[in-house]
Amino acid sequence: MSEARLIDGRAAADSLRSQVASEVADLKGRFGVTPGLAVVLVGEDPASQVYVRSKGEQSLAAGMHSVTHRLSADTPQDVLIGLVRSLNADPAIHGILVQMPLPRGLDEKAVVEAIDPDKDVDGLHVVNAGRLSQGLPALSPCTPVGCMILLRQTLGEDLSGLRAVVVGRSILVGRPVAQLLLQADCTVTIAHSRTRDLAAVCREADILVAAVGRPRMIPGDWIRPGATVIDVGINRVPFDDPAKAAEGRTKLVGDVDFKSARHIAGAITPVPNGVGPMTVACLLANTVTAARRIHGL
Ligand code: NDP
Repeated sequence: MSEARLIDGRAAADSLRSQVASEVADLKGRFGVTPGLAVVLVGEDPASQVYVRSKGEQSLAAGMHSVTHRLSADTPQDVLIGLVRSLNADPAIHGILVQMPLPRGLDEKAVVEAIDPDKDVDGLHVVNAGRLSQGLPALSPCTPVGCMILLRQTLGEDLSGLRAVVVGRSILVGRPVAQLLLQADCTVTIAHSRTRDLAAVCREADILVAAVGRPRMIPGDWIRPGATVIDVGINRVPFDDPAKAAEGRTKLVGDVDFKSARHIAGAITPVPNGVGPMTVACLLANTVTAARRIHGL
């Protein structure tokens, strides 16, 4: 049985980061503009701390200006919004990212809406979501942008006419990736928890994007032979090996059952090292885009 081509997200992210670094050098050298990213972390969530550290390190490595604001979990809403407003007004900052989820008691939507849409490098502000849905230039969410880069590297620039099925309709992943696929002239279906006969819907896909958050929910026999599968899911599960599982050891798996899918798909992203590494690289790219637009370059 032939095996699917593995889509290497690490290599794609490395190449995007080097492209960003050379664009940063160019902006500095020719225009004296150093793209600046501010990341705000509220509370002590361990996963968020890892993500925030990585965003800070990678932006510095790309030659960008990088600041991280760490606030305690009991920070009042008005203090957090005050910080966002001061970053909106800071000319050295072109991108603002407030790490989600926020601790209980803070209103995530209100915080995102306080970010200047031109600095909303996470692409979550309603203005950017609206621009994206109208096909206008927007700062688009990073993970969906990463999915599109991987798809174009795999299938070529022209995706027009392909049937795309996106499983998941979140504001963070499902909806924006569907909008980007539509902009690329795919015929797009968005599936979700109320979709009837999800297996049949998935089998129609030339491009299947899984963004559900349920480990290995999509088995190989839901995949059309030769389809390109982008697995966004990141789920922590116990090891299959009972001895390791008994020690409480865990591993990451996607929303697609990789073992069965890789014999049917034409190309597939692994988990880890598929979509995951693209997210921060796309955040850096969005910050450069924001800096260019803010300075009219
Ligand atoms: P959400 O929980 O916000 O959304 C999940 C979506 O899946 C919802 O639209 C939900 O439908 C749908 N869904 C849930 N159960 C089913 C089901 N049984 N059948 C069909 N659809 C279902 O998750 P996110 O979009 O934020 O994240 C999805 C996954 O992607 C997670 O594993 C997350 O960890 C991962 N992720 C990875 C990133 C990366 O960098 N690679 C970045 C962001 C997320 P409904 O709307 O009807 O409830």
